[in-house]
Amino acid sequence: MTSDPHASSATSFTVQVDLDAIAANVAALRERAGSASVMAVVKADAYGHGLLPSARAALRGGAAALGVAQLEEAVRARDAGIDAPMLTWLYAPGADVAGAIDRGIEVTVSSRWQLDDVIAAAARTGATAPIQLKVDTGLARGGALLDGEASAWHDLVASVAAGMADGAVEVRGIWTHFVYADAPDHPTVRGQQEVFAEAVAVAGRAGLRAPLHHIANSAATLTNPSAHLDMVRPGLAVYGLSPVPDLGAPQDFGLREAMRVTARLSLVKRIRAGQGVSYGHTWTAPEDTVVGLVPMGYADGIPRAAGNLGPVRVQGAGRSTVTGRVCMDQIVVDLGPDFGGSAGDEVVVVGRGADDEPTAQDWAAVTGTINYEIVTRMAPRAPRTYLGEGA
Ligand SMILES: *Cc1c(COP(=O)(O)O)cnc(C)c1O
Repeated sequence: MTSDPHASSATSFTVQVDLDAIAANVAALRERAGSASVMAVVKADAYGHGLLPSARAALRGGAAALGVAQLEEAVRARDAGIDAPMLTWLYAPGADVAGAIDRGIEVTVSSRWQLDDVIAAAARTGATAPIQLKVDTGLARGGALLDGEASAWHDLVASVAAGMADGAVEVRGIWTHFVYADAPDHPTVRGQQEVFAEAVAVAGRAGLRAPLHHIANSAATLTNPSAHLDMVRPGLAVYGLSPVPDLGAPQDFGLREAMRVTARLSLVKRIRAGQGVSYGHTWTAPEDTVVGLVPMGYADGIPRAAGNLGPVRVQGAGRSTVTGRVCMDQIVVDLGPDFGGSAGDEVVVVGRGADDEPTAQDWAAVTGTINYEIVTRMAPRAPRTYLGEGA
């Protein structure tokens, strides 16, 4: 096990990431995907797990490519020596598109201005720009909308075909994204697959063929084989979380949580019945009890909405709950009247589900959010500690 060089052994909490879990999850997703290859999505610092180690672990597990939202993340991974195919889909005018092309990063094009930027950058670098085209099949987020006979998608593919003829661009893929990531049976899912097939046909009629077609996020990778096409694009499942918690826990899909967050109690004290705890006294001790101070707060990704709700497991006390409000840097937990431990004892904040440890999904469920948000926002100021091969 190695740590970030800046980490001190005295850090009061730790975000541990199991790289073998990431590799094994990708292997499990590959199996699910059948003949489709896997693009592991490592955006947002690999959903909070750390971009570079996570990306390498995903490739070790058999990912054929990496996907990131922001162009700068792709550049960072490439400059760190990761030479796998890489796709980016989010940038604004003025972004260093030429830098991405220079590095062989595939840039997603969904509008005329993006195509113009890519063609101009390719002319400057003298390279043929590898691009993928994104069609909007209903999410109304990124992508060129296909909504009729003279749509933005029709216009885009005609312009791209002209750029291909000039040798400025090479289309490596056509893709889209689902509206319902977590409801595989929703009628829009089938509808979007049909619009996507139409988009590919429209591109074909414009003389445009791409080797890769892809649409499936984690949920569709796990539950909708008809959406696997040439490639799947899972993110959340790579990190061992279930995108469809109502349909199954990670283990039901052969996945294992990669992140584990633990803290050390920094103070333990006895309080009397009737004592209010934390800002606003939203919790009052119903009996004499022992409370512990956990040195993590909303600055560390503990949702403020988790006051009186957030689950933890304390060494020697078992499952407990945040008492009172979540503060910026700290929370208080009730340890029960018989607690015999002391400062320094371990608190599992986000565990891996085994041994009654609370999970990211447990935190999401009590705070009205999704497990994605819990791990992605977890403790940005804490160095990650890595376990497994490549740590
Ligand atoms: C985030 C994202 C994914 C991965 O989604 P998950 O639900 O985490 O699997 C795939 N494609 C795009 C375009 C995304 O933005």
